[in-house]
Amino acid sequence: MIVMKFGGTSVGSAARIHAAARIVTAARATEEVIVVVSAVGGVTDRLIMAAQQAAAREEWAAQEQVTIVQRIHSEILEELALENAGSAVADALAGLFGELRSFVQSVAVLGEVTPRTLDYIAGLGERLSSRLVAATLCVGGCPAEAVDATRFLVTDTHFGEAFPLMDATRTRATATLGPLLAAGVVPVVTGFIGATADGAPTTLGRGGSDYSAAIIGGVLDATAIIIWTDVDGVMTANPRVVSNARTLPQISYLEAAELSYFGAKVLHPKTIAPAIEAGIPVYIRNSFRPNGLGTEIGRDSPPSREPVRAITAIAQLTLLTVQGKGMIGLPGVAARVFSTVAQEQINVFMISQSSSEYNICLLIEERFGVRAAAALGQTFERERAQGLIEGIALQNGVSIVAVIGAGMRGLPTAAGRVFSLLGRENIEVLAIAQGSSELNLSFVLPTAAADHAVRSLHAEFALDVAPDGAGGSYAANQR
Ligand code: ADP
Ligand code: ASP
Ligand code: MG
Repeated sequence: MIVMKFGGTSVGSAARIHAAARIVTAARATEEVIVVVSAVGGVTDRLIMAAQQAAAREEWAAQEQVTIVQRIHSEILEELALENAGSAVADALAGLFGELRSFVQSVAVLGEVTPRTLDYIAGLGERLSSRLVAATLCVGGCPAEAVDATRFLVTDTHFGEAFPLMDATRTRATATLGPLLAAGVVPVVTGFIGATADGAPTTLGRGGSDYSAAIIGGVLDATAIIIWTDVDGVMTANPRVVSNARTLPQISYLEAAELSYFGAKVLHPKTIAPAIEAGIPVYIRNSFRPNGLGTEIGRDSPPSREPVRAITAIAQLTLLTVQGKGMIGLPGVAARVFSTVAQEQINVFMISQSSSEYNICLLIEERFGVRAAAALGQTFERERAQGLIEGIALQNGVSIVAVIGAGMRGLPTAAGRVFSLLGRENIEVLAIAQGSSELNLSFVLPTAAADHAVRSLHAEFALDVAPDGAGGSYAANQR
C-alpha cells in the first residue's frame, strides 16, 4: 500500500484534480492507494481570515470570505463535469458550508474565537476538497470514498498544532481504512486535521497535510509515501528565490528534516519522524510533471563532491535579546530564559550566548515576540529591579539562513567559506549557530538581505551543478 498526498496547488482547480485522479488511478492498477488531500490552494488562509474577522465582530466580511470559498468550490465542481454524481457532491458541500456559516455567526456573536473553534473552521478546506477528489475518482472508474481524518487520526488537545497519538491512531485507522482497502475502494483522506480522543476536531499545524500522509503511512505500514506538489522535488534552494536551483534526486531523512525545519516549505518539518520510525521512503514529486524522478528521501544520501547540499531561509522572525552585565556569573539565567519561552509553547529556532555572557539571544517567530518578551519580563522582574538585567529587546524583520549538508560534518572549511563570502558580499550577520547535528550552519540576518545571501551561497557552493555533472541524474544512475 502506498500513501499519496496532493498539496493545495495539486488540487487547486478542476484540471489539477483531474490530473491528480489520473495519477491515483494509474498507481491503483498495481497497488493499494490511500490518498491524502490538502485544501484547495488559498482556502485555508481564507477560512482563518473569516474566523478572525468574525472574532473582530466583522461578520459581514467574514461571511463574504465564506462566500468566496463557496464560489471557488462550486466553480471547480461545475468544471469537473461529474454528471450525475455532481448533485450529491453539491449537497455534501452545501451541508459543510451550512455548518461553517453557523460557526462563523457564533464566533461573531461571542466576539472571540477559541483555538478549538479556529481548528474546526480552519480544517474545513480539506473536508471540502476531499469530496471533490473522491467523486472525480469514482466518475473516472476508480472507486473512492472521502474520509474525514477526524474519524481515526487521534491527537492530543494542543489545538492549532496537535500531536498525533500513534497507537490510538493505528487502531482506528486500521478499523476505518482497512475495510475500504479490502473492498477495493481508495480512501481520500483529509490532510491537516485530526480529532481529540473525545472527538473535538484539531489541526496539525499549517502545511500539516504532509505530516498527515506520513502518520497514516507510518501506522498502516505503507511501502512508500509520495508527496505530490508543484515543484520537481526537494531543491538546492527555494526555486522562487534561486532561479537555477536544482532538484536533489536523493537525500537522507536527516537532511530532509533539517531542510524542512529551516524553511524548505516543500515538506512539513514533522513529516520525517513517522517515516524514519517505520523506515518508509518518502518521495517528493511534481504533479504537473508526473513522469519526473522527483526526490527520494531515505536512510542514506549519496556522496557529494561539495559538503553543502542546500540553502534554506525563514523570514518573519524576531531576535529576542536578554541583556545585562549582571548576568555574568549569575547561575541559571539561560535555563530560566528557556523554560519561560518553553512554558509559552514558543518554538526557538536558534540560541546564541555571547562569550562575554552579557547577553542571550533567541530566535523566534515574530508573531510571538511581544508575548515572549512580556513573559521574560515577569520571570526576571527582580533582576531587572536590581539592575542585573538591563533590557529585553526585540529586533523584528530578521531571517535565518541555513547552509545544510551531511558532508559538512567535521569540515571547518565550509564555515570559513560561508563567512568569508558574507563578508565579501557585505552581508550583516546578527547571530550565528551551528546545529548540534553538524548537518547545518545557520545565521541570522536582516530579512532585506536574505535573498541575496541565499543566492550568493548557492553560487559559492555551485549547487546548480549536479555532483556527477550530468544534471540531477544520481538516482537514475543508481537504478
Ligand atoms: P503543497 O501545497 O503542495 O504542500 P507547498 O507550497 O507547501 O506545496 O510547498 C511547495 C513550495 O515549497 C514550492 O512551490 C517552493 O516554492 C517551496 N520551497 C521552498 N524551499 C524549497 C526547496 N528547497 N525545494 C523545493 N521547494 C521549496
Ligand atoms: N491546508 C493546510 C494549510 O494550508 C494544510 C496543508 O496544505 O498542508 O496549511
Ligand atoms: Mg505544503
